[in-house]
Amino acid sequence: LFITFEGPEGAGKTTVLSKLVKELEENGINVVSTREPGGIVISEKIRHIILNKEHTMMDPRTEALLYAAARRQHLVEKVIPALNENKIVLCDRFIDSSLAYQGFAREIGIEEVLQINEFAINGMMPDLTLYLDILPERGLERISKNKEREMNRLDLEHIEFHKKVYEGYQQVIKRFPERIHVIKADQPIDQVFEKVKAVLKPYLQR
Ligand code: C5P
Ligand code: MG
Repeated sequence: LFITFEGPEGAGKTTVLSKLVKELEENGINVVSTREPGGIVISEKIRHIILNKEHTMMDPRTEALLYAAARRQHLVEKVIPALNENKIVLCDRFIDSSLAYQGFAREIGIEEVLQINEFAINGMMPDLTLYLDILPERGLERISKNKEREMNRLDLEHIEFHKKVYEGYQQVIKRFPERIHVIKADQPIDQVFEKVKAVLKPYLQR
């Protein structure tokens, strides 16, 4: 079972995911939790190149290709082996981030970015995606209050960029309505967590 978490900055993806891992493990469920871009050495290095504050000149298509490359290696090295061992894989961001950020917000085009990602993932779409829905203004407000969070190049983008990301996600949700479940995230994290568990329940019982 391959489950991905999506949403704009400050939606609570990372927080919800770590709570979920803890709870599943307590119930004796074999789970692997990981993130994109990153999760393994090569992909964390690519992440560092993309998110480096000094790389403000990076071309959007270069960025999209780097994300796709990081995704490919992470799938091959970590996700697919874990799925083959019947583990549940939980991933913080995946293909939908590329469609929303590079495809829509960076204006490459959702279909164009989907194409290079189909090449990269070669059929490994998530079984289920939980989209944590929060308006960009609220999400950014949350981030600014989180002192432990390290700011990267993209966190420093203007609000207009994050509004476009939000709009991009709305289109991605329409494009994949069966796979993507929308969860209202503008509420206390415990409530978001309860909703996440409710959506997951039928998948875990299979
Ligand atoms: O999920 P996390 O906050 O760690 O993501 C790191 C950064 O990468 C975020 O600022 C996000 O905006 C950016 N990102 C992106 N395009 C992607 C995935 C992440 O711009 N496809
Ligand atoms: Mg996060």
